[in-house]
Amino acid sequence: MDILIASSNKDKIREIRSILQLPDVNLRTLDEFPGVPEVIEDGNTLFENALKKASVLAEFTGLPTISDDTALEVDALNGRPGIFSARYAGQKATYKDNVKKMIKDLSAVPEKDRKARFRTVAVFYHPEIVVSEEGVVEGVILTECHGKGGFGYDPIFFIPEKGKTYAEMSSDEKNSISHRSKAFRKLHKSIKNTFLLVNNS
Ligand code: IMP
Repeated sequence: MDILIASSNKDKIREIRSILQLPDVNLRTLDEFPGVPEVIEDGNTLFENALKKASVLAEFTGLPTISDDTALEVDALNGRPGIFSARYAGQKATYKDNVKKMIKDLSAVPEKDRKARFRTVAVFYHPEIVVSEEGVVEGVILTECHGKGGFGYDPIFFIPEKGKTYAEMSSDEKNSISHRSKAFRKLHKSIKNTFLLVNNS
């Protein structure tokens, strides 16, 4: 069975492929479909954004589609940047710009108040079935970057139980505990119990 990943973010696609290694599922990507419409992420929630990406691109390609939308929620910033995590330092911000701004904005915040979490909402869309699951990982925002792996805010997202940032983990280690893997593993379980069984029978 073919399932489309509704993302053009290569870092996310790499992680989703590694998390969802399923013998009976062939994961397809947008670069195989010329002329895909741009989807503006203008929802008020992670679910709205993830559903919009999945539904628009499923209708365009005719394939059942998965998507995710992810937020970094920082307590000292009252939950920001949240759904605006990609654009924290401006519309065209790079990962580096966002990390730099986060370090600067939290420079006066003591360690005990630097709690944050990554939240991913993953959606599976088929014209007759919509399934959504969430994955959350708690951490602390560091005052400087640690590690070279991962992407986005990974070098400043420290996980106390592991004693390291996401960027200090191997891909396998990050994927074994991450917000994205929690969401997609739950999503896989849910669709296996409904959609995949029905369509493979
Ligand atoms: P998106 O809207 O789901 O693409 O994610 C928003 C932003 O959050 C991205 O541009 C990244 O900067 C950041 N982000 C998403 N997932 C991760 C992750 O797994 N680690 C670090 N940063 C992430």
